[in-house]
Amino acid sequence: MNIRNALLAAAFLAGLGTAAPAAAQGGFGPQELAIEEVRNGIYMIRSAASGNITALVSDDGVLLVDSKFEREYDRYMELLRSVTDEPVRFVINTHMHGDHTGGNARLAELDADIVASENARRRMAEAQAMGLPNITFDDHLRIYFGGQALDLYWFGRGHTDGDIVIHLPEERLILTGDLFAGWGPSIRLIDYNGGGSLLHWSDTLERVLELDFDTVIPGHSGVTDRAMLEGYLDETLRMQGLIRELIRAGRTPDQVADAVQNEFGRLAFVILPNVQSAIDELR
Ligand SMILES: [Zn+2]
Repeated sequence: MNIRNALLAAAFLAGLGTAAPAAAQGGFGPQELAIEEVRNGIYMIRSAASGNITALVSDDGVLLVDSKFEREYDRYMELLRSVTDEPVRFVINTHMHGDHTGGNARLAELDADIVASENARRRMAEAQAMGLPNITFDDHLRIYFGGQALDLYWFGRGHTDGDIVIHLPEERLILTGDLFAGWGPSIRLIDYNGGGSLLHWSDTLERVLELDFDTVIPGHSGVTDRAMLEGYLDETLRMQGLIRELIRAGRTPDQVADAVQNEFGRLAFVILPNVQSAIDELR
């Protein structure tokens, strides 16, 4: 088994509240929460256990992208306070999974506005999550913050049906959430229960790639670039192609799952609830 892929998959599963195999609990990112400056005024707070937080620190206050698990809240706020005393004004959720939204309720207590796609909010409400977003949008929302525009886009289904991408045009930077959780080939979880779709994922990534950017902050791993995201789209198309081929060859769902995992990494390809969902939509 490719250990790196196993760790990545485990981090996804951790995000969904599913027990991860003991050997794979490291996830990707540092074991202990740590803060790093990406560039002037932009910080990442990372840990292996959950999704990245990105903090935009300005004279307008702080804007956070994602809020990790609730149990990490005290420590990541400590780290944030080591670089700024400004209040948290906005929290943008890239999607509804618990490893990206767990701190929402605590941050709302600080009077932060919580922003997400309407789809993500609806699913959080259905799951009776705490700290529901109070600002939502369908396709596009612009926030002016810290002297620059942030464009939030919903481009379609992928990891879930509520994933958004945040574009900072002046920085030529995007934040992808788990539409692109990490580097490397085909590390993906398709949450069909959350409206995800392997079929639509490629179209969604093509729309992301129409934006003007060179730097990418993924949902889990460290800062990367446009070429990595292009590679991720290629792997998405290749995965679709392989599954279609296997369907045509009359393979059973178990055989499809095995073949795809052998090709792309045994735990790197995780479908919830099961591979039948992918077969149904790619048939
Ligand atoms: Zn997720």
